[in-house]
Amino acid sequence: MSAAALLRDVFGFDAFRPGQQEIVEAVVDGHNTLAIMPTGGGKSLCFQLPALVRDGVTVVISPLIALMRDQVRGLREAGVEAGALTSGNTPEETDAVWAALEAGTLKLLYMAPERLAAGGTMQMLRRAGVGLIAVDEAHCVSQWGHDFRPDYLRIGELRQMLNVPLAAFTATADAETRAEIVQKLFDGQPPTTFLHGFDRPNIHLAFAVKDGPRAQILNFAGTRKGQSGIVYCGTRAKTETLSKALSDAGHLSCHYHGGMQAEDRRIVERRFQQEDGLIVCATVAFGMGIDKPDIRWVAHADLPKSIESYYQEIGRAGRDGAPAETLTLFGPDDIRYRRQQIDEGLAPPERRAADHGRLNALLGLAEALRCRRQNLLDYFGEASGPCGNCDLCDKPAEIFDGTTAVRMALSAALRTEEWFGAGHLIDILRGDLTDKVKQRGHDSLPTFGVGNDYDKRQWQAIFRQMMGHDLMRPDPDRHGALRMTDHARPILRGEATIELRRDTIRAAKGTGPKVRMLVSEEDAPLLSALKAKRRYLAEQANVPAYIIFNDRSLIEMAERKPNTLDQMAGIGGVGAKKLESYGRAFLEVIAGAVDDVHPMRRKLAGRDEGVIYDRLLEVQAALSRGPHGADKPMSCSASMLAKVAQMRSADADQLARVMGEKYAERFGDAFLEVLEAG
Ligand code: ADP
Ligand code: ZN
Repeated sequence: MSAAALLRDVFGFDAFRPGQQEIVEAVVDGHNTLAIMPTGGGKSLCFQLPALVRDGVTVVISPLIALMRDQVRGLREAGVEAGALTSGNTPEETDAVWAALEAGTLKLLYMAPERLAAGGTMQMLRRAGVGLIAVDEAHCVSQWGHDFRPDYLRIGELRQMLNVPLAAFTATADAETRAEIVQKLFDGQPPTTFLHGFDRPNIHLAFAVKDGPRAQILNFAGTRKGQSGIVYCGTRAKTETLSKALSDAGHLSCHYHGGMQAEDRRIVERRFQQEDGLIVCATVAFGMGIDKPDIRWVAHADLPKSIESYYQEIGRAGRDGAPAETLTLFGPDDIRYRRQQIDEGLAPPERRAADHGRLNALLGLAEALRCRRQNLLDYFGEASGPCGNCDLCDKPAEIFDGTTAVRMALSAALRTEEWFGAGHLIDILRGDLTDKVKQRGHDSLPTFGVGNDYDKRQWQAIFRQMMGHDLMRPDPDRHGALRMTDHARPILRGEATIELRRDTIRAAKGTGPKVRMLVSEEDAPLLSALKAKRRYLAEQANVPAYIIFNDRSLIEMAERKPNTLDQMAGIGGVGAKKLESYGRAFLEVIAGAVDDVHPMRRKLAGRDEGVIYDRLLEVQAALSRGPHGADKPMSCSASMLAKVAQMRSADADQLARVMGEKYAERFGDAFLEVLEAG
């Protein structure tokens, strides 16, 4: 498998981070390498990925036992044979590592440097078929640094004995330490060295909220007429329509996507390389082979997939070092689409959660409060000052203290036990008496209606910014319900405040024609989960997805949420055979969406009171407009219903005390009947 395919399939990343690709290529090619990268920059991938490409086992020397164990666990979960020999091992673990080494199946062997001193280790490694040595925290070899580990000095000896390439990694970049690493690990022979440096200061960075996106792109291109540029689009269809619009406006433009014939793609690539001033409207398929140095601008007509993809794509501009410009458009629909892509993926839940986190990081950049470059470099672990070459340095954002709004939003989520998405939380905050709010009794929450200062769109902008600050993430296990992260705790406890951007809240208005959604916003994550299950089953059975169930059936399931096989049988397209083969699997997905059951009711699940509660709900629904259907609508809160459900031998007086006169008058008699029958 190629490095790019492994990156995606094993590690689940869609793009390399700055610097990674060059390092991976050098290590795969068997060069001795020294890479200096900031902490958090993604060093481990630079030896883990080559370890999978190269023959034999890669020995990884690291001084940090906890970190080694962590990495081994992560690799094993991704299906990679990895093991560690550390003092923390149980005898069984050690035996398993030895056995895998003997069998020749181990791909990565982590080891603390002390191990090299132990008798027999060198011999064992000589026999094991080692193909590569990777040294993490390589500065530990420096006698003058405070992290000096005497056993690191044995690594040079190991390299000579095994006569295999060595890749060394560190975050410490000063020249003395570097020279010492070269001396001690590489015997004084300078390795291929990478010193990053992620910043591309000649590239101007800018983001804008979509507001007539086609005109925005035409404007941007219009002021750069005759310059070579790329417009990245989210869909193949858009590459074609945008390219046409640009041509109509007098630009030299063509489109490019993975669905085109190989020959046609070659033609576009060649033209772009050779002609001056051509614009290519493309999907991300365009780029890998492009090394044109004088691309003057890159625009994103849609939000990229992650902060890593963003960096990679804008990085194609201005390789010659001359000024280059970028513009990235984004809107609520893009964010929804990207979230949906994650939810519909088959990655394990932890990885999907991490992907939501990475998308949050990109939103954080899109709605950054201050210098974008600082924000971007900070994400990649590099400290810097304001850059003077981004839209926010050009014109500072308008900022206000959003602490109160954010606290309200967090509290609405917590009081509903983190079972709901932004749409419902906003209804609660704004005091909108929707059916769902009434059904669940959320109108009795103290947060109900406290957020009237902002309209719906403004609240949506606030929620978006909260994700950008990674205060909340959609939980794939709860079909997109928002859950608070640890970052939010200090704000909730009143120990920290938070600033938000006022301009994006004020500008929050419609972004052109609304995309047609197949189901309501609240049901969308469930539909995504159903589709993911369908894809999984289809892959297992090696049949096209629609053979399992067609979209109409899934949409109906998402809307009606059957919770028994009987109810499932009532869904269109669910015949007896399919019910038997797949019914249970899809019911399980839906049962995850317990958000449909009020927490009060959940507490009663599996008890007689639960059944009574349901009967009370029915009776109440029948009487909500009074016995003749002509009165003012009324409904009891969920907690009132739960209380009633638990009153065993009730009489009318007791009931009136619990419910209050008004409610007892409407519902009392009917409820008593239910209680007596139960
Ligand atoms: P370092 O060892 O340089 O401190 P790590 O190797 O632990 O950093 O990586 C830091 C984080 O970056 C990890 O959470 C890792 O999953 C993530 N990461 C690494 N490479 C990529 C990539 N190409 N795309 C997305 N995330 C990545
Ligand atoms: Zn800046």
